[in-house]
Amino acid sequence: ELHNTLMELRGNIRVHSRIRPLMEFDCVNEEPGTLGRPGTKSEVVVHLVDDENLCVRTTKHNKVFEFERVYGPVETQESVFDEVQPMLTSLLDGYNICIMAYGQTGSGKTHTMLGSHRNDDYNATKNPHRDEGVIPRASRELFRLISEKASMTYTVEVSVVEIYNNDIRDLLSSDPNCKHDISTATDNSTSLPTIVSRQVDTVYDVMCLVQHGLRTRRETATMVHEHSSRSHLVVMLTVNSQAPSFFSKPAQQNPDVTASQALRDSKGRALSMTQSQPNFSSMPFTDSQSQPSGGNSAIPVIKTKLQLVDLAGSECVGMSGVTGAALRETSHINKSLSALADVLGALAEHRSHVPYRNTRLTHLLQDSIGGDAKLLVLLCVSPAQRYITESLQCLGFGHRAR
Ligand code: ADP
Ligand code: MG
Repeated sequence: ELHNTLMELRGNIRVHSRIRPLMEFDCVNEEPGTLGRPGTKSEVVVHLVDDENLCVRTTKHNKVFEFERVYGPVETQESVFDEVQPMLTSLLDGYNICIMAYGQTGSGKTHTMLGSHRNDDYNATKNPHRDEGVIPRASRELFRLISEKASMTYTVEVSVVEIYNNDIRDLLSSDPNCKHDISTATDNSTSLPTIVSRQVDTVYDVMCLVQHGLRTRRETATMVHEHSSRSHLVVMLTVNSQAPSFFSKPAQQNPDVTASQALRDSKGRALSMTQSQPNFSSMPFTDSQSQPSGGNSAIPVIKTKLQLVDLAGSECVGMSGVTGAALRETSHINKSLSALADVLGALAEHRSHVPYRNTRLTHLLQDSIGGDAKLLVLLCVSPAQRYITESLQCLGFGHRAR
């Protein structure tokens, strides 16, 4: 109760900013040993002021930006997740949640969302790993909260997609180049009826699927060069919750046989592959905006969504001199990120029309941004002088959303 009141007071859209540490690659073409020194391109110009303020300071600029929270370069993955954790409680309370990382390439988006699990196989033994990001931490917390709520029956499904050139590519499908449409229900909830969605029971299941998706993304990349920063990655967790008195048991959902035993092959991989229709497809279900009305058997299943988004790099890529596939990529990235800014701007100004439909990115996230849904934007910025233009653009984007 108190938690919900607090969330309401703070608003449904929150913007945090994270300044990453200065890295070796911030000082290419500079004398060794000059990292961070005044007068070099790797000079630090984005500084932490306090928990809610950062400043950009050079001979030309001196500007303070305020956010609900600012994380400095030494702040841990754990303390970022401390701020995210209450959103998982809200997810089980029936709200759709979206957490997205925005920033230029190299600013720390993937570090923040995935952490050390971007490449290597998820290793359950070093779990929880201190470097792991929001996606594994949120998954673990979700299953922990579910295990505490014995009064409800939950199933969780995962899908992993990328949005590349405004096309949705299903990274869990054996045919990732197949195109997918977003379907919108009358209550404005969105879904991808034709993509693969797998039931999961542990953080291990989730991370195996995410890594499978990342491998597919790499292997099927249209342009080999920096593909990961040219598309948006969306990890979607759908939670179906049901009061047990309404629970009719489809065979594969028998709670006596845990899905982690039943749905694994000899290599321990999760096997259940379903289309992303609700598991209880014979029953009506509601979106997150509706609460169960109690009463009779009318609304047995509540479906809520957690969307975790690693956005394409927000660097202001000039269009001049760019041709062919790179031009197409660039214009789609610019278009989708400015459509996102338009949506956030419309919501911040409480305008009656919110232009969700302009790109697939904003359309897909429609039911997780605005309304009762709770959005957290994590602005990732580099502290270095050489990226000051991109950092100011990123911080400006965040300010428009507030
Ligand atoms: P992006 O996904 O925005 O392109 P990355 O997450 O790949 O950026 O970050 C670029 C590099 O900086 C990576 O090597 C990453 O490990 C490192 N990095 C980013 N943020 C941090 C941080 N907060 N602490 C330590 N290393 C970081
Ligand atoms: Mg990245």
